[in-house]
Amino acid sequence: MPSLPVLVLNSGSSSIKFSVYEAENGERRKLHEGAVDGIGTDQGSFWIKDADGNKLVDQTPALPNRSVAFRLVADALHSGDFPAPAAIGHRVVCGGPTVQENQIITPALIDEIERYTDFAPLHTPIAVYIMREALRLFPGIPNFAILDTYFHRTMPEVVTHMPIREEYSAMGVRRYGYHGISYESIVYQLEPNVPEKLIVAHLGNGASISAIRNGKCLDTSMGLTPTGGIISGTRTGDIDPGVLLFILRKIAETEPSATAAADKLETAVSKKAGLLGVSGLSNDMRDLREAIKGGNAKARLAVDKFTWTIAKWIGSYVAELGGLDMLVFTGGIGENDIASRAEICAGLGTLGILVDAARNNVRGEATISAAGSPVTVRVIPPAEDLMIVNHVVRLLG
Ligand code: AMP
Repeated sequence: MPSLPVLVLNSGSSSIKFSVYEAENGERRKLHEGAVDGIGTDQGSFWIKDADGNKLVDQTPALPNRSVAFRLVADALHSGDFPAPAAIGHRVVCGGPTVQENQIITPALIDEIERYTDFAPLHTPIAVYIMREALRLFPGIPNFAILDTYFHRTMPEVVTHMPIREEYSAMGVRRYGYHGISYESIVYQLEPNVPEKLIVAHLGNGASISAIRNGKCLDTSMGLTPTGGIISGTRTGDIDPGVLLFILRKIAETEPSATAAADKLETAVSKKAGLLGVSGLSNDMRDLREAIKGGNAKARLAVDKFTWTIAKWIGSYVAELGGLDMLVFTGGIGENDIASRAEICAGLGTLGILVDAARNNVRGEATISAAGSPVTVRVIPPAEDLMIVNHVVRLLG
């Protein structure tokens, strides 16, 4: 195959991140990466770096909306200063019940993904917008939807089925799981020695954990939406449904519109809860660690809830897998927060998870288990963009 520049687009609520990889046969080389950040503000940022980290573009434009933001990316990639993409891979968080395979993007596919916006309401609208814009601004170039839900499609029905009436299941209400491209990229990096029984904890601002058998997902903590599972930066994770009803009834006392009440409930459980809600301070682990040093009891409680929930989840996944060969930490907290890894693993010795304090004292890729630990414990950064490029190359045939 000739050298092929592949553009990877990964959009969030206020940013569009992108990277360009050169793919040639089995080789992948990152050429550039960049981001437009601060969408909806008078002074955002737009930068592009080369593979050595040198900034080639560094601007602070007004970014009133997504259209202006994505136009900056498209114009830069059409300017001739950078290799024009031959194919585009879009990170799509949720394909819903009907779009389970990574595939070429058509207008009909975008419509289908949009039908299930409610399952990832913070992620899908922007991804849908960018897919439509990319078809318009990069005409004639194949665009592919690469799904976070794809990795989790191997989960058995007993895991995916929700204990609700059939009419809701028929609407697509089930466990989908998220962070799938990150999980896939960990399995990919472990190849060809993927352990039979593997748990990966993706601990970032959003956090989830997966049980993986022979490289295939068996179970994952996030459910219908990324709000389920373990507590994370601003999300509750799994919670007694009675709490939702209680909050909803409180909201309904002053909010007559059911739609507006649902939006307020969503804010309560997805944007103002989790580490932020418990600490009343921040969703950022670095802030919480600083506050704990200063004796802040609420920050301590928030972090304890986080590490305790994850330890509990690891225990249940060891039971589900029938043992454990390897535990991997990834994501911003998993890679960098030494104390979280130590606190999560502190009580897991009976499961054969023994972390060496000196080895754990690192940021980034490392093996942190003690010599002789029955379970290998590793830190591996995710390689999501690379994984998207691999899918795009495979789909291009
Ligand atoms: P992500 O969503 O994967 O970018 O991860 C974001 C989370 O990683 C935030 O809670 C950060 O506080 C946390 N994080 C990033 N760097 C560090 C660090 N050096 N120490 C502790 N936490 C960190």
